[in-house]
Amino acid sequence: MIGGCGQDFTDVSALRLLLTTECEGQDVAGTQAADLVLLDWDGGTSPLYPSISLDPLDLALFETSDGGTLADRADEFKERVRGQVTRIFCDFPEASIRVDHAGQERNRNTTVVHLAQIVSPHGGAQIGEGEYDPCNQYHDDAAVIFGEQILRLGGPRMLDDWVLMFANVTAHEIGHMVGFGHIQRGQQPEASRSLYVELMLDGHTIDELKSEQRFVVPQDNCPKTDSTARRCSHNPVADWTRGE
Ligand SMILES: [Zn+2]
Repeated sequence: MIGGCGQDFTDVSALRLLLTTECEGQDVAGTQAADLVLLDWDGGTSPLYPSISLDPLDLALFETSDGGTLADRADEFKERVRGQVTRIFCDFPEASIRVDHAGQERNRNTTVVHLAQIVSPHGGAQIGEGEYDPCNQYHDDAAVIFGEQILRLGGPRMLDDWVLMFANVTAHEIGHMVGFGHIQRGQQPEASRSLYVELMLDGHTIDELKSEQRFVVPQDNCPKTDSTARRCSHNPVADWTRGE
């Protein structure tokens, strides 16, 4: 099935009733999630590249500064990535999502992010790609995180840094899939200087990738100029790293 097409609204409506976010400090009515986002760590195929078999992320390749690899703490790493993505969106109530690991629900009509041990089919320094879905009209969008490209950015790194790098790229792609576009570097007004790096820049340096990122500049996920641009087809957005 093509991502973003042919979804069953009835099913989604039913599913939404079961969805809550994991944001602290919000009352029950405020915790309803509009989208279920599944992190798929097991490889397979994505609607973004139907003819490509995605290798699962090979955590043994990612060295940690304590002499081990992410494979030594695989469950902790995955759960911390999920937690960090959740935290980023909890700080941005304009988007209400629930993030889980892909499991038995993987065939449901949900948004799926594949974290894969591949470089981008487009080459270059692309670290992620996701469908841009203005107004969040669809709830079955797709994204791929190019783990092999992230690995090539160097290591070993602290576990915390790996967590932030993967979480930031993942949250950025989810941002596109629920309708948020890119913020241009320098667009952030001086007055709203933030401790955080803007999540939705079209490219980040490595230092920015391993920093805490958030939606800093206010934006609408239903920009009037783009709202009619999307058709029932892929409209992927590529994201890159800049040289250090
Ligand atoms: Zn992007």
